[in-house]
Amino acid sequence: MVKAIVGANWGDEGKGKITDMMAREADIIVRFQGGANAGHTIVNDYGKFALHTLPSGVFYEHTTSVIGNGVALNIPVLFAEIQSIVDQGVPAPKILVSDRAQMVMSYHILFDQYEEERLGGKSFGSTKSGIAPFYSDKYAKIGFQVSELFDEQALSEKVVRVCETKNVLLEHLYHKPLLSPEDLKKELMEYRRMIEPYVCDASAYLWNAIQEGKDILLEGQLGSLKDPDHGIYPMVTSSSTLAAYGAIGAGIPPYEIRKIITVCKAYSSAVGAGAFVSEIFGEEADELRRRGGDGGEYGVTTGRPRRMGWFDVVASKYGCRMQGTTDVAFTVLDVLGYLDEIPVCVGYEIDGAVTTEFPTTVKLEKAKPVLEVLPGWKSDIRGIKKYEDLPENCRKYIEFVEEKIGFPITMISNGPGRDDIIYRSSKRSGN
Ligand code: GDP
Repeated sequence: MVKAIVGANWGDEGKGKITDMMAREADIIVRFQGGANAGHTIVNDYGKFALHTLPSGVFYEHTTSVIGNGVALNIPVLFAEIQSIVDQGVPAPKILVSDRAQMVMSYHILFDQYEEERLGGKSFGSTKSGIAPFYSDKYAKIGFQVSELFDEQALSEKVVRVCETKNVLLEHLYHKPLLSPEDLKKELMEYRRMIEPYVCDASAYLWNAIQEGKDILLEGQLGSLKDPDHGIYPMVTSSSTLAAYGAIGAGIPPYEIRKIITVCKAYSSAVGAGAFVSEIFGEEADELRRRGGDGGEYGVTTGRPRRMGWFDVVASKYGCRMQGTTDVAFTVLDVLGYLDEIPVCVGYEIDGAVTTEFPTTVKLEKAKPVLEVLPGWKSDIRGIKKYEDLPENCRKYIEFVEEKIGFPITMISNGPGRDDIIYRSSKRSGN
């Protein structure tokens, strides 16, 4: 069976932890979109890890990790990541890379930096990992697919064409050093040497695995609100963050995705620019940031402090709907144990009218949060294994959120570790 693990919000919901946990029962874990621009933090028996490109199932000997065609493949980053986990005592993972994945080139990273410099204060808050230039090139049909590495003749011609296009921008728009076809070719040949042992026809591999009844996880990066179509455009990422794209970015039939586990955080955090309706500031935000996640809410890739906010029903309900959620995994709930009262954003007021439907960006910019305040539970819920053992106000918080978002919360994460999980049968799912 194929299951997708995706984010309901702006990313950093704890997908890595849920994937690592569910990978115990899985055979194959697939990354289907995004690149090294965001990270997952995972805490397990081997230690604490920040992964950017590898799927979060790499820590088990029984799993195979697949980098799907939809991914922005940064080969040096992938290799550094493999090396770093092996250095920390993890057995060398089994990795397959789709021959249809495209590669992030060193100039994509440069263009990302140059563009942020050019935009100055009006920048999108890019992580400068080359993701936007990479996907732009993919759709402009001047990207490099892994399969092309094995046709040297064609490659030699293509690098000339690519340099011509890129150098116009480098010279006239950015006033930066130009690219040379020889350097590009050298870079590509180096990538070929590195990646060759891992390359395969990933969609055929996954098709066969599905026929054999293997358990497959599709691991999403970021969350619904960063989707280029359905998110807070233009403050979005450059590849679809939705489970539906899992079929494309992995190369499997859409009807094979039987479960969609949407990871939804018990409060909000976001990175980068853009409207963030339930955002909080000052000491209130600092305290939640300090206590948040596992060791504070700071970007895994960038170290940037994340923007903080209360749980946003409007954004999360929409985020879950766009994913096609069958199950919600409600995460980092333990962090809220210090609060006397917990505000929840239950609606947006836009031009004097209150709505619970997530609007397009122009309207979103005008939205003010409508807050409802719930009583806190004032205790540490880590270590609790059964739903009934949670404090009453904590259960009320969960049930309130479930009712408002309209999707069944069947997993509650009350700590960063693999075993910090409470399974629950929800009335909504009829489990
Ligand atoms: P991802 O990108 O969705 O995988 O999320 P991140 O890894 O960026 O952020 C999640 C952070 O929260 C990580 O530091 C996790 O170790 C941590 N985390 C995940 N689940 C829980 C939880 O239930 N409680 C606490 N305290 N931390 C958690």
